[in-house]
Amino acid sequence: MKNLAKEILAYILWPILLGVPIFLVYTGIESGRPTLYFNIAYLGLAATLFVLERLMPYREDWVKSDGQEFPDFAHTILNKGLIQLALFLLLISGIIQTMGNKDASSYWPSGLPLAAQVVLTMVISEFGLYWAHRLEHTWSFLWRFHSVHHSVEKLWFFNTGRFHFVDTFNSLLFSIPLLFLLGVPGDVFIYFSSITAFIGLLTHCNIDVHCGVLNYIFNTPNVHRWHHSKKVEEGNNNYGENLLLFDMIFGTFYFPRDRHVGPLGIKEYMPKAFLGQLAAPFRWNKTQNKQGQ
Ligand SMILES: [Zn+2]
Ligand SMILES: [Zn+2]
Repeated sequence: MKNLAKEILAYILWPILLGVPIFLVYTGIESGRPTLYFNIAYLGLAATLFVLERLMPYREDWVKSDGQEFPDFAHTILNKGLIQLALFLLLISGIIQTMGNKDASSYWPSGLPLAAQVVLTMVISEFGLYWAHRLEHTWSFLWRFHSVHHSVEKLWFFNTGRFHFVDTFNSLLFSIPLLFLLGVPGDVFIYFSSITAFIGLLTHCNIDVHCGVLNYIFNTPNVHRWHHSKKVEEGNNNYGENLLLFDMIFGTFYFPRDRHVGPLGIKEYMPKAFLGQLAAPFRWNKTQNKQGQ
């Protein structure tokens, strides 16, 4: 009976963990305080994942420290700061005020139901995010930056924000300007960016969830673990940020059902310290020569 309850919980957990924070964002938008409610939802989800990773981990050994907590945290804060700065600059340049303004763009179907507009935003942005991510893996110059994210050897919610800031800038460049040009309304953009943040946390969590058919639609933890495989032929798949639509279309969906993922990480050398990780992509050959010394 206990096992059955655990099994049911494993199947319903991912939709609940995504649905509750989205409902909080909805409440925030309705009450005119979206930022406050988003922050509560984000921190609440992070705290919940921290507890669940200890109660029902996917891998027991991933609960142990890998000594990367400070770099994970520092990259997250640096990225958040840069995104805030970019939003501030867009705000003072007047671009954000034009969002949702019907005159700003005649392309956006603002007559559609809100949920349909959010889905449309996710699909459109996913196209850019997919190709940005695929390039980050296949163009060696961009891989230098993206390898910071992949250099961890375990997954847990805390390494969600572990991206080199140049890598983050690249992903934003491939997705956000197009949404601005299309005149995506402000509320729709808030839902899109919130859902992206929540799915990101969930994607990296070390919780034994079974996402069933959702594994073929969304970037779930079950699917994303394969993207972190140390084997390049396995890792160079599942590039979707939120949705796996373009992995399906372009043939990069990878999800073996008969085994678990092996070692995670990268074949290259990555410094353990935050500042070393920031500098490594800029002096790549020098950094690689240090390996084994
Ligand atoms: Zn990647
Ligand atoms: Zn990842």
